[in-house]
Amino acid sequence: MAPGEATDLAGWGNFPVENCNIYRPEGLDELRSILAQRREPDFISRGQGRSYGDAALNAQRGVILAYGSGERMHLDSASGTLECLAGTTLAEILDYAVPRGYSLGITPGTKRISLGGAIAADVHGKNHHKEGTISHQLLGFSLLTADGNILDCSREENSELFWATLGGMGLTGVILGVRLALQASSTAYVTSSNERCRDLDDVLTRMEEGDRQYDYAVAWIDCLAKGRALGRSILMRANPAALEDLPPSRRSLPHHVPSRVRPSVPLFLPGWLLNPWSMRAFNAAFYAAHRNQRQTLDFDRYFYALDRIEHWNRVYGRRGALQYQVVLPQSRAREGLVALLERIVDTGLASFLAVLKTTGPANPAPLSFPIEGVSLALDFPNTGTGLFSLLEDLDAVTLAHGGRVYLAKDSRLSQENFRAMYPRIEEFNAVKARYDPEGLFSSSLARRIGLAVNS
Ligand SMILES: Cc1cc2nc3c(=O)[nH]c(=O)nc-3n(C[C@H](O)[C@H](O)[C@H](O)COP(=O)(O)OP(=O)(O)OC[C@H]3O[C@@H](n4cnc5c(N)ncnc54)[C@H](O)[C@@H]3O)c2cc1C
Repeated sequence: MAPGEATDLAGWGNFPVENCNIYRPEGLDELRSILAQRREPDFISRGQGRSYGDAALNAQRGVILAYGSGERMHLDSASGTLECLAGTTLAEILDYAVPRGYSLGITPGTKRISLGGAIAADVHGKNHHKEGTISHQLLGFSLLTADGNILDCSREENSELFWATLGGMGLTGVILGVRLALQASSTAYVTSSNERCRDLDDVLTRMEEGDRQYDYAVAWIDCLAKGRALGRSILMRANPAALEDLPPSRRSLPHHVPSRVRPSVPLFLPGWLLNPWSMRAFNAAFYAAHRNQRQTLDFDRYFYALDRIEHWNRVYGRRGALQYQVVLPQSRAREGLVALLERIVDTGLASFLAVLKTTGPANPAPLSFPIEGVSLALDFPNTGTGLFSLLEDLDAVTLAHGGRVYLAKDSRLSQENFRAMYPRIEEFNAVKARYDPEGLFSSSLARRIGLAVNS
């Protein structure tokens, strides 16, 4: 077996960049023999590399590229059960399922991720307040474990391993095949409404009072607005559109979505382009452009607005960006958000991309991110030391309010803060020790936050 190909790799944030040894197994036999020969101290799976930081990196060690793609998809059109390989992307599933009257019940803000990556991060979407994470749709998966066995995992079978793998960031084994319950849909459209909210209190009150009436809810928040405008937002909520909601010209083909040309950011833009002044101007214009409005949109425009521009992450320049996503429990959300926003606003470092979401109850997965409350996610262009000390400050605020940072977006959380934020680590470590006692699966993220290392 050839050694891995030494390559500089990064996540979507382009920070950090690490030299990793890449393996591209052609099939299950090759994958098994790469792991059995163990030319590397350990290995981590990589899907589409859309986690922001180092979850799918393994500096100077093995990285296994997505196993399988969308070629082997099977949809039982009566039950809506989809079977496919873990390397299949959400985009491939949608291309196949939407014209057949099915959609993903739960989807993150990009469809350019693999199912394996979605399970490993236990991803959530704009409907977490109603439907929870992707676990809700997941019927089961097969997992190649460190001893070379393939185990079927579901709520009923190997259930501990099932829940540890959801949110387990690739550390329990390689997910091979997946069974997913798709959602029947009468159209490929949503009816959405935008509401302008003048400040944080306004948006939180509207979310508390109104989110339950919508399947999907998210707010864009202006993280640079100060004083009385602190937290001003555009609340964007939607429900699936019924046939009669569509314009007459679309009713004969309700599952057809026009294909679009995807413009691309061809090069890394100069880092100075995104500065507090340009971002403040962008945010003011974005807020002004969004009036209270109702419209019918196809699912691509509502769920995947960012995917419409190829390589949009290059706008942050070569030094990349860090995303900071936290969730705060309901009882402390308002005061925690004020404290976070006040610190962020003072520095003027945040970017145009900042979202607020209501989250529903946590699920049984020990490392799953969402807890019942409110989540705030925002991108910061990587400006170096000042940013890192701000983020440490934000960690302290998050912790003081009972919240936690999302590992799929993280690239710098400390071991100490990770332990304080995720109280069920030992449950995860116990499962990991049972199925991978010699630590065949590890990653840069795992070593940085001290997760299941030396177990
Ligand atoms: C623009 C954008 C928007 C996003 N919006 C959301 C959102 O709304 N909600 C949300 O929850 N997340 C969101 N994310 C995060 C993203 O959904 C997750 O990071 C997801 O894990 C990325 O999947 P991937 O295929 O790119 O995986 P990678 O980034 O390649 O890997 C992520 C993790 O999955 C593991 N993994 C990948 N494949 C396998 C496998 N076959 N077996 C075992 N482990 C595997 C890796 O080891 C790693 O730990 C967003 C990311 C971007 C870039």
